[in-house]
Amino acid sequence: MRKLILPLLIISVFGCKKNSNGPDAPKAVTTASYNFDTDANSTVMFADGESITLLTSEARRYEIGKVLRVKAVNATTIEVANFAPVEINDATILMTIEGQASPVKLFKIGKIRAHGVQEIKYPFITGDSKFLNNEGQEVDLAQYKSAGIPVEKVSFDFSGDTELIKKLKTLSKLKWKIKYHDFDPNDDPANNWKENIDAKDVRRFTGFIINLAYLFQEEATRTAFVAEPITDNNKIILTTVQKEEAFKKMIDIPNFNCGVVVNVSGLGGGATFGVANHVLKDYLTADVCFVVVHEMGHMIGYSHDSSMTYPTNPGNRGAVVATGNVYKDLLAKQQFPVKVSNYYKPQDLQ
Ligand SMILES: [Zn+2]
Repeated sequence: MRKLILPLLIISVFGCKKNSNGPDAPKAVTTASYNFDTDANSTVMFADGESITLLTSEARRYEIGKVLRVKAVNATTIEVANFAPVEINDATILMTIEGQASPVKLFKIGKIRAHGVQEIKYPFITGDSKFLNNEGQEVDLAQYKSAGIPVEKVSFDFSGDTELIKKLKTLSKLKWKIKYHDFDPNDDPANNWKENIDAKDVRRFTGFIINLAYLFQEEATRTAFVAEPITDNNKIILTTVQKEEAFKKMIDIPNFNCGVVVNVSGLGGGATFGVANHVLKDYLTADVCFVVVHEMGHMIGYSHDSSMTYPTNPGNRGAVVATGNVYKDLLAKQQFPVKVSNYYKPQDLQ
């Protein structure tokens, strides 16, 4: 009897040890990782020669807070797209299925190149069905493995700890939805819209709009704007509360329908936001608020009689001056998300 116990004990200890690491133990849930960084695993949006129809398509509309955009193509396929002209590393894609309390960490992105885009099958269709949610709890998506998830029941976001991702995430304070337009489809020479918007225009615009949004999410911009003497359309000085409201209106502009102008520096009103090529060339190295905040002033209803558009003189005071000072400061400190050093096509900036 005694002789039997020892081998049994050894077996059971061995068995226990094996069980905690081996194939019988509950498998630790790992988040799949993808790269979209070569021609083998992605294509590139806004490439030279892309048609105006595609450049200006509804499918290319994006929220400024989600420049790393994931959308459901159908129940089993999603599209991953980077609307920034810079590569993004170490992102986590989050998915929320209607009714779920916490988003699921759907997959990680090691690297997605600037303007990279790719369709993939949901990872729970091609791989393991177990995922972690944002609270670290295990979620089994096996029920969606064959039929997928109806497009209208799912939404996506991204997260990450890199400096760039943290900056891009701050843009979700703004409501801007961005789309590019050819505002002169009939090529009328009498108006100030460029005849044909091209891929380079849009590439440059994607970086410009990120940095403009970054300017407006900065607390320093709001502070400078509210402290600035600014007059309304009747040349009456705005109160602090009115300036706070005007600033919020700019944060809350729902749509930026972006186009390129010629002969003038900018055109703005309602959702229309046009800037000239010199703005799209210079925004990474010079203050462009004199043009662009002027147009945003028009977008929220201010005329040339208000110093939301042109500064008042003598004294040079107004919205474009206050915001321009912060713009210059962010440029000098290299704090904008898009910079000369990370913009992917240096020839675009010449
Ligand atoms: Zn104007």
